[in-house]
Amino acid sequence: MDFHFKKAMIYDLDNTLYSVKTIGDKLFAPVLEVIGQEEKHQANMEDIRKDIMRIPFQNLAQKYDFGPALTQKGEEILQETTYDDHISLHEDYPAILEMPGHRFLVTTGFYKMQKSKIDRMELEKDFQACHIIDPMQTQQTKKDIFLQIIKDGNFEPKDVMVIGDDPESEITAGNEIGVETVLYDKHDQYQSHPASHKIRDFRELVTILIN
Ligand SMILES: [Mg+2]
Repeated sequence: MDFHFKKAMIYDLDNTLYSVKTIGDKLFAPVLEVIGQEEKHQANMEDIRKDIMRIPFQNLAQKYDFGPALTQKGEEILQETTYDDHISLHEDYPAILEMPGHRFLVTTGFYKMQKSKIDRMELEKDFQACHIIDPMQTQQTKKDIFLQIIKDGNFEPKDVMVIGDDPESEITAGNEIGVETVLYDKHDQYQSHPASHKIRDFRELVTILIN
């Protein structure tokens, strides 16, 4: 048996550690109401509701052609939106606490919103650092933060693993800097994907690390 334990495990937040669907209707109600007030978006509201839980607002605004006024209004609402109710972590979450190495959280989104979710789930006690990349405040990307974590920790790329649900976000960023990537595909949506590994449950991580 070979051990390939990592010195640093970097996790995504949304749809990786918990399901946005469980909080999304309440969290996004105010912004969805404003979007729904514009007639040209009314036919797309079901798709917009699904997408807002899965992709960054800035991408959503482009995809549905919100235009500058609605985009700005949405950003103003979301910048002040926090989530103050209970959030349930995925039931397999405790398995990540059993993995050796430093744990880091890297999430993209509106700062206050992401911080409120991290606080509600009490994640700061479980992670060495929680990084929030707010596109309203910085040009930095997940790749930049991954490289910073590697540099600050004196890690080699081979010592690091990135785990998340989005092939186009953290998985692509991890691949670009040569670290092993794990797609967390809880609902088995992806038959093909660019990640080094795919899991549906964090309890499978150990079988990747010991092989
Ligand atoms: Mg995610």
